Amino acid sequence: NREWHLLSRPVGWPKPEDFALVEAPVPTPGEGQVLVRNKYLSVDPYMRGRMSEAKSYVAPFELGKVMQGGAVGEVIESRAEGIAVGDHVLHFLGWREYAAVDAGHAVKVDAQAAPLSTYLGVLGMTGLTAYAGLLRTASFKEGDAVFVSGAAGAVGSQVGQIAKLKGASRVIGSAGSDEKVRLLVEEYGFDAAFNYKSGPVAEQLREAAPDGIDVYFDNVGGDHLEAAIGSLNEGGRIAVCGMISVYNNTEPAPGPRNLARLIQTRGRIEGFLVGDHYDLQPQFVQEVGPWVASGALKYRETVVEGIENNLEAFLGVLRGDNVGKMVVKL
Ligand code: NDP
Repeated sequence: NREWHLLSRPVGWPKPEDFALVEAPVPTPGEGQVLVRNKYLSVDPYMRGRMSEAKSYVAPFELGKVMQGGAVGEVIESRAEGIAVGDHVLHFLGWREYAAVDAGHAVKVDAQAAPLSTYLGVLGMTGLTAYAGLLRTASFKEGDAVFVSGAAGAVGSQVGQIAKLKGASRVIGSAGSDEKVRLLVEEYGFDAAFNYKSGPVAEQLREAAPDGIDVYFDNVGGDHLEAAIGSLNEGGRIAVCGMISVYNNTEPAPGPRNLARLIQTRGRIEGFLVGDHYDLQPQFVQEVGPWVASGALKYRETVVEGIENNLEAFLGVLRGDNVGKMVVKL
């Protein structure tokens, strides 16, 4: 059983020396627990926050201990009622090959109904993030023009497509390569997209959304947020989902210089955490599940193989190596 430990708290970009892949005994499940052989591990931007000491909405990872994260695996031993050997479960003890999981913290998933990895992505946490953030936090309504950053990523690609399926007047996305931009327009049906690395975001957004935007779904922060405020229409709404452009900063990033535009636009800006919106899960599965099954909503995954590459996969998400959800296959 190999597991990833955090050795020291990264300053700026995490370095390989901050981590170690450690050999540990396969855990013995206690009463009320199941032993799970993990098949897919999730790597997510928020994990960067847990590597730092600062208190956030989830506790920091402990030094010298195994890290945590979303995972899906097969139950190989059960000491819990209602979960049998051979069942597949979604749980939170990732970054390791084997986990003893409390039955109350394991959610059974159907390996026949959908590929196991999708329970970490398009049908899982990132999917619900897109759904809740767009529909609830940003109060999306038919006819809205929607701009989403990080648009080729797990959350962003789903935001754009849900908006389109629900009658957005225009969907604009930004991403970090021309290839990703092509994917947004040609495969995901975005009306316009641009590469934020090829020119000022504000200019490119104005060109892509000449009539302005009603919703901005922020995954990135920084100049993207300022650009979105600059293009916001009256009554516009900004859902702050993430700000990946600042996660490795060692100094606080300056705020948008044009915040005062929120006055004339009566604009609203609001952050949210997917954890507060699990009441939407049944509705999300009911509405988005069939779109995924029929292909009306497309998704990609970037699959990295092997526990030894778990850290590289995580760093890859911060670098933008991924298209769609990044997962590690064991
Ligand atoms: P993604 O699949 O979108 O992967 C992250 C992407 O961010 C990369 O692929 C990269 O794409 C992009 N990126 C990295 N650095 C920068 C930068 N400096 N500027 C612009 N883009 C950058 O990850 P997720 O879909 O899992 O997460 C997306 C966002 O949502 C993150 O900010 C995350 O923290 C947040 N989140 C928030 C949740 C909540 O409850 N509020 C829950 C889940 C996620 P590119 O090549 O385009 O640069």
